[in-house]
Amino acid sequence: MFTKILIANRGEIAVRIIRACKEMGISSVAVYSEADRDALHVNLADESYCIGPALLKDSYLNMTALIDVAAATGAQAIHPGYGLLSENPQFAELCETCGIAFIGPSSQVIKRMGNKDEARRTMAKAGVPIVPGMDAITDEAEAVRVADKIGFPVIVKASAGGGGRGIRIVRDRGELPRAIQMASSEAMSAFGNGEVYMEKYLEHVKHVEMQILADKHGNVITLGERDCSVQRKNQKLVEESPCPVMRPDIRKKMQAATVAAAKAVGYTNAGTVEYLLDGDNFYFMEMNTRLQVEHPVTEYVTGVDLVKWQIRIAAGLELNYTQKDIRPDGCAIECRINSEDFRNDFRPSCGKISLLHIPGGPWVRFDTAIYQDYTIPPYYDSMIGKLIVHARDRREAIRKMQAALCELVIEGVNYNAELASLILASDEFVDGTYTTGWIGEAIEEFKKL
Ligand code: ADP
Ligand code: ADP
Ligand code: MG
Repeated sequence: MFTKILIANRGEIAVRIIRACKEMGISSVAVYSEADRDALHVNLADESYCIGPALLKDSYLNMTALIDVAAATGAQAIHPGYGLLSENPQFAELCETCGIAFIGPSSQVIKRMGNKDEARRTMAKAGVPIVPGMDAITDEAEAVRVADKIGFPVIVKASAGGGGRGIRIVRDRGELPRAIQMASSEAMSAFGNGEVYMEKYLEHVKHVEMQILADKHGNVITLGERDCSVQRKNQKLVEESPCPVMRPDIRKKMQAATVAAAKAVGYTNAGTVEYLLDGDNFYFMEMNTRLQVEHPVTEYVTGVDLVKWQIRIAAGLELNYTQKDIRPDGCAIECRINSEDFRNDFRPSCGKISLLHIPGGPWVRFDTAIYQDYTIPPYYDSMIGKLIVHARDRREAIRKMQAALCELVIEGVNYNAELASLILASDEFVDGTYTTGWIGEAIEEFKKL
């Protein structure tokens, strides 16, 4: 087992990983930017090193600086968290070359799944259903012909995409060429790669994803699904497990497809396969080759600590669970707490937190890196915490979440607890039938309340 791990991330996920290290008796090394001197992860880790100025490219994305700190401190492994370098095959490869364990799958697997249209082809070969579409668009006229064939609306997506960026939905054939150009230029600036692909845009569908753990000994297990259909602009707001409308027979099929997907690419470590669920059918959307933001939901229903298992798997240990041991229990819900004002076009809000009260009680978890008198810097993600609850059934989980949202107080910045509460109180949420397009429309109604 490793004795020292470097955490190449910030915010709540860095804190989450440092906690796992502490519980496992592993020393932790934090890195931080000049804007993050007062950040919680810096304080909690056993050692902390400043690696550059505030901008991501100058600090958290500076691969050489990260490797230098790992080498100088004798860290044997790097945990990349989510976002940042977590799905960057060059970084994983650099770690491999330097003899540092990258806590995630191999650089080859990240590369194969990171190119989303290549991943589609790989999955189709492995027998996993995919949405009809077109890979790597090079010719706009050809794209229009394919779109006519599969039928509008279509969705244009960045091959290197992530975090809901580089996506365009096209309902009118005349708009397709321009949408391709716009998605491509957005992808170029966000990911340094302008390649885009196209799929049929499925409406009134759910985003359902399945969590896996795969060790280096050929064992792959699934840990239940998460329904992440509460999305605004393709970004998740509320997640829950299990999916409230999932039929046991469909779940079995999705599990089989997910294991086949992982085995087809020789996947190791924690990963998530995302699907669109359309009635009785589901289609592969992408694989996230990293820890997911919403992983606590799965931890609550399965009792499995995903971060600890990521570390053990990277160290070569064998899973001591078989599929039979995983018996998801009850219902867990997560609300992402973002420092933004939903009544003011989701304008991000930063500044000093003058008062903080974190909800408590049994099966209430608040993963965050904020504390009283902390000043939220303007440079990073607006997600400042994740509130997660677990209960025996969904009704109780919703009530528990409502109570916890009500108790949460963050003075000094705007945050979205009121929006989360309105979502949870809606009929669509309560009956569990909500689909990915729902919140986009519902928000206008919420604003009037
Ligand atoms: P999840 O899929 O875990 O629910 P998100 O898609 O919301 O998470 O992404 C998690 C974080 O990582 C967000 O901060 C998002 O902006 C960022 N992110 C995701 N994919 C990429 C990527 N390819 N490049 C850069 N940032 C990314
Ligand atoms: P990202 O890498 O940014 O997470 P995804 O491919 O996972 O991109 O898509 C983001 C979201 O866009 C999905 O969660 C889903 O809501 C929506 N989406 C993606 N592809 C389709 C599709 N073919 N039809 C309908 N919605 C889609
Ligand atoms: Mg996705």
